[in-house]
Amino acid sequence: MVAEAKLARARASSFAILRLSGVFLFTIRSNLKFEGMRDAILIGRRRLLSGTGAALLLGGLEGCASSFSAKGNLKAAPLQLVPVRASTDRITRITVCTRPFRAQGPRLDAEQIGSKLVVHNYGHGGSGWSLSWGSSGVAVRKAMASGERDIAVIGCGALGLTSALLLQRAGARVTIYAKDLPPNVRSSLASGVWTPDSRICLEENATPAFKQLWEQMARNSYQTYQNFLGLSGTPVEFIDNYFVADEPAAARRRAVTDSRPRFADLQRELIPDLLTQGEDFAPGSHTLGQRYLRRTSLMMFNLTSYTRLLLGDFGANGGKMEIAEFHTPGDFARLREKTLINATGYGARALFGDESLTPVRGQLARGIPQPEVNYGLYYKGVSFLPRRDGLVFQALGEDDYYGFNDDTALPDRGEADRAVNTIAGLFSGPASSG
Ligand SMILES: Cc1cc2nc3c(=O)[nH]c(=O)nc-3n(C[C@H](O)[C@H](O)[C@H](O)COP(=O)(O)OP(=O)(O)OC[C@H]3O[C@@H](n4cnc5c(N)ncnc54)[C@H](O)[C@@H]3O)c2cc1C
Repeated sequence: MVAEAKLARARASSFAILRLSGVFLFTIRSNLKFEGMRDAILIGRRRLLSGTGAALLLGGLEGCASSFSAKGNLKAAPLQLVPVRASTDRITRITVCTRPFRAQGPRLDAEQIGSKLVVHNYGHGGSGWSLSWGSSGVAVRKAMASGERDIAVIGCGALGLTSALLLQRAGARVTIYAKDLPPNVRSSLASGVWTPDSRICLEENATPAFKQLWEQMARNSYQTYQNFLGLSGTPVEFIDNYFVADEPAAARRRAVTDSRPRFADLQRELIPDLLTQGEDFAPGSHTLGQRYLRRTSLMMFNLTSYTRLLLGDFGANGGKMEIAEFHTPGDFARLREKTLINATGYGARALFGDESLTPVRGQLARGIPQPEVNYGLYYKGVSFLPRRDGLVFQALGEDDYYGFNDDTALPDRGEADRAVNTIAGLFSGPASSG
């Protein structure tokens, strides 16, 4: 009886909270002026509802009352972020890689070279993994339209592997010819997150036709990646990602003075439905000190297990591989296949003399894995990812021109240390307490 009475009182209090929240939401909604406020309302609603559920679970008014502050507001428990063991002595290696950027976007046309039909599939900038399934789908349709069923794929990075797998699914017998195989390809040195418009082209070249193609590639890839969730080895997963700043958003806005051409920003315009709503955490509501956090979700690729899975599937489907280096397109003449997909990435610059490919240098500092950390961070131009095959710390610089036209492959230890120390700064000192 006592328990039932407690439950009834808890239910009554929770309905009161829901009614209150209804009035609160209605009042704010009628004054809605800015997009950002919509997020605030949603957060408010989510917190109220979760607080109500928690009160019911505690089974009494006592528990419910204790979650109110002196002013009567419902107080959510602070967001607890497991500290990242960011320290320079835990760096296991520093890798450098070149993004194959083309101002006009990836090359996907087909050309006849001697007796071979060559379908190009290269030049995806910082979006190669993200767009791989969609882009390779386009290339495979063109290759299969030739009527040939023995098809060669040149290259074994993100684009070569996905082209090969999609060709097999379309009924072709496939041989991959490549100078290097994973993990010794550039694709293996990527950050490993869903960034489908990262340095994909310049804004001035994002024509309506290109936007349509990009959207098709992005949506196709996104859907295909969902098939890799929940598999052993966690090849693909979603993580929470926190944008961290020392000042509130309003104080961060700066005038744009850069006169260089802008990179295309396509996600918000073309695939807003694939982006999660941001949630804000003010100082005091989390364990990263007096900072402002914004949480979104991010799809992450654990590239070691993901690449092994793709290689395994290719082999299991009867795929063959040959180590081969081509110095000119004329070298393709020695292949037995008449139809080829060219997925040589930045290698196409030398192979095809394609000067439109611009190198964009990127460096990762890899750290000892820390399985209990399952969220990413972005702070002061540095990105942190909790990849299961090794933590990733990366200096992203001020803008997308960071590393532009730089093909130096030498690791920069100073840059790696700075990236790790920037993230370490979030977890040390007085500012890190909640
Ligand atoms: C630091 C960094 C972080 C990145 N992070 C991300 C990310 O998070 N998400 C994302 O989507 N993208 C990311 N990218 C971009 C992504 O890595 C590239 O777009 C992608 O790897 C390109 O893949 P690819 O298959 O075209 O080229 P590659 O991986 O370079 O593969 C090319 C293949 O062709 C072969 N080859 C080349 N030339 C020849 C030749 N002459 N003869 C024979 N074989 C040849 C190579 O051996 C290799 O097998 C990142 C890039 C960098 C540098």
